[in-house]
Amino acid sequence: MSEVTIFDRVLAGEIPAQVVYEDEHVLAFQDIMPQAPIHVLVIPKQKKRCYDDLADTNPEEVGQLFVGAARAARALGLAENGYRVVINHGRDGQQTVDYIHLHLLAGRQMIWPPG
Ligand code: AMP
Repeated sequence: MSEVTIFDRVLAGEIPAQVVYEDEHVLAFQDIMPQAPIHVLVIPKQKKRCYDDLADTNPEEVGQLFVGAARAARALGLAENGYRVVINHGRDGQQTVDYIHLHLLAGRQMIWPPG
């Protein structure tokens, strides 16, 4: 059993979050410390701890996460101007919450390479 994270508690409704999109498979809510004018986190309702866990996950389930994130971005009207999708994994990737999440960043020009 993995530890209960802050995102488990968001999903359970125990911690308030600004939900911007939800479907059967994902929940999308505003990041508490936004790094862009629009900064949304997308989590699967079926918990995975990290990106590495996807290597052992049914591709359909992985797809539901990505489809959900794309639909969230579309619902937020981000597709036309563009946005960045980020998944941090592990220590060097600077993952701080052990519940997989996609960052949707938008509303400003992104830079490349990323820091
Ligand atoms: P990461 O570094 O990829 O694990 O990203 C974790 C993200 O979760 C950071 O951008 C935090 O600002 C964000 N975060 C932490 N706690 C909360 C919370 N209660 N509600 C929304 N976002 C949060």
